[in-house]
Amino acid sequence: MQSLWREEDAEALIARYEVDGVGRDIALCLYMTRLLGGDPRLVLHGGGNSSVKTRVRDVTGAKIEALAIKVSGSNMARAEPVDLPALRLDGLRRLRNLSELVDGDLRGAQRACLLDGSAGDPSVETLLHAFLPHKFIAHCHANAALSVTNQPDGMALSKVTFQGRAALVPYTMSGLQLAQRVAEAYAAEPEVDGLVLMHHGLVSFAEDARSAYENMISLVSLAEEKIVALSKPTSQPVQSRHQSEISLAEVAPILRGACARALHENEAPARLVLSFRSNAKILQYLAGDELMRYAAAGMATPDHVIRTKNKPLILPPAKEAQAFQQATQAALTDYIAAYRAYLARHAADGQDISGLADARPRIALVPGLGLFAMAPSMAKANIIADIAEANVDTVMAAEAIGRYQPAAESDIFAIETWALEQAKLTPSRAPLAGQVAVITGGAGAIGAATAREFASAGAAIAVLDLDGAKAETVAEKISDNHAAAAIGLVCDVTDAESVGDAFQRIIETFGGVDVLVSNAGAAWQGRIGDVPEEILRQSFELNFFAHQRMAQHAVRIMRAQGSGGCLLFNTSKQAINPGADFGPYGLPKAATLFLVRQYALDHGRDGIRANAVNADRIRSGLLSDEMIAQRAAARGVSKQDYMAGNLLGLEVTAEDVAYAFLHQALALKSTGNVTTVDGGNIAAILR
Ligand SMILES: [Zn+2]
Repeated sequence: MQSLWREEDAEALIARYEVDGVGRDIALCLYMTRLLGGDPRLVLHGGGNSSVKTRVRDVTGAKIEALAIKVSGSNMARAEPVDLPALRLDGLRRLRNLSELVDGDLRGAQRACLLDGSAGDPSVETLLHAFLPHKFIAHCHANAALSVTNQPDGMALSKVTFQGRAALVPYTMSGLQLAQRVAEAYAAEPEVDGLVLMHHGLVSFAEDARSAYENMISLVSLAEEKIVALSKPTSQPVQSRHQSEISLAEVAPILRGACARALHENEAPARLVLSFRSNAKILQYLAGDELMRYAAAGMATPDHVIRTKNKPLILPPAKEAQAFQQATQAALTDYIAAYRAYLARHAADGQDISGLADARPRIALVPGLGLFAMAPSMAKANIIADIAEANVDTVMAAEAIGRYQPAAESDIFAIETWALEQAKLTPSRAPLAGQVAVITGGAGAIGAATAREFASAGAAIAVLDLDGAKAETVAEKISDNHAAAAIGLVCDVTDAESVGDAFQRIIETFGGVDVLVSNAGAAWQGRIGDVPEEILRQSFELNFFAHQRMAQHAVRIMRAQGSGGCLLFNTSKQAINPGADFGPYGLPKAATLFLVRQYALDHGRDGIRANAVNADRIRSGLLSDEMIAQRAAARGVSKQDYMAGNLLGLEVTAEDVAYAFLHQALALKSTGNVTTVDGGNIAAILR
């Protein structure tokens, strides 16, 4: 592993922050932090931490000794000054001789030392940094170091690997006790450049930032070199022995549905989105003869367990859909029972473990196919998938030099139930969290508004449109503005192959489908006695058959998931109340309204709801400014009066329609429902 330190970059960062009044020490610590955070072999996402001891002014203007340390869970790669709040060093060091600090006290004691009371929680390793004397300190969970320490003879192997450059600290729970042990280990070997925290990670330090950073790089390099030196040649070719015989598009909905139903037999399913990863290394890991042993041994560092759980769900190779479905169900039931038994085994009398009530796995392995990470949002699922991939690397290297053996189960339990780790979990309360919504005509006014509305409710979004570039633009805006996952796909809803391709991409990206908003449409006109049959057939192709095609595809996936779903159709006011010369538009829309009822009738037993929105007079591609001007002129009213020509006297917008679709998606006991969004039109009222 090479040092990426560049003096000119460090100086540039110092100059960049000097204008904001950020001192040189903090800027150098930021540079070190970002370099470490930028390499996934060292730290992932919110893991790892770093600090600098510096002098700052307190509220009275007096200069005091402070520890500036990373905020718990913040991302090192994107660290900013706000992520390195300052704490009174003397206050932290006064905790050194305490015999015990319970959870709440540790957090409170750390916060009490903050100079800025509104700062985020300082790292759970704050005391470790405070008790060591060095100016710059870094801590990470480097894969290579974990491959060396996670061995039955890890202490002996670490001793020869790190060649006296790092003191060894047997596994100890983070917090006061680890900080005390680390300080003692350093005091006994004051010539070292760092510490090896067994089954956990590395600490490096120095009086200057560059040396602290480069000490970390050289410690990791020692571990990497040892792995190369000791690795047995791999006899197994990369090619998997278990070729999956059913595709990812078939496997993902089965897994996703089983997980959605796993916790609440009689209540609404608790859905998760899936992030799928596969490559030669993952397939090799999954093909190993001893997969069941090393995959179930636990995560490489307890730091990751709060997000990933300690063990993955290990599934058999996917040979045939029905058998795979049954095997998944059985494996999941066993997993949940085993997880609950593990909690019961370790929980003290009266210990509150309600934060771990969701006993479902976060990682699933399918030999011959790849690994899945599962979470209520794509952002979280992607973090878990990154950790799972890093874990594959660590375990493979550990197995190549010996036998992978991570921290003990009781230590994992202590971390997983630790209040300071629990605080890293931010439960999603968004009503559509974990759900996947597909919206056709997604680049149009109503489609885009609906995509935005569903994204703000927490759903992952697939924006489908005949214009693929516009669909991507809508999706990008949603990703930027709503912190939601969204993809834009080209899709011709009148073409079976195009629709099939789109659904396949959606499953590969999110794992399945829960809501379809079948919205794409276009208006053909003609007096019904004169209109050519061809026009009528064209309109039926888009305004009826395309709805049926989309719904049929969605229903197939929803039934594979077995966790219900929701079909929503844009049927227009024309389905109820025909407009003169609008027969070619109204006739297929009326058929689509009937289609809604048929789906409600035939698939209610599958938990699939079907509803329609009956909207009118919305500014969109179907009703352009030009058309509004013409129609207003024909009626002798202003454009505003034409648009507000309804019982409420209000113009109806695309957002109003989007909100009606969202309402239908959330109304879990409503099916066969038609919601009117037209400001009130007595001739179009249903009954
Ligand atoms: Zn750590």
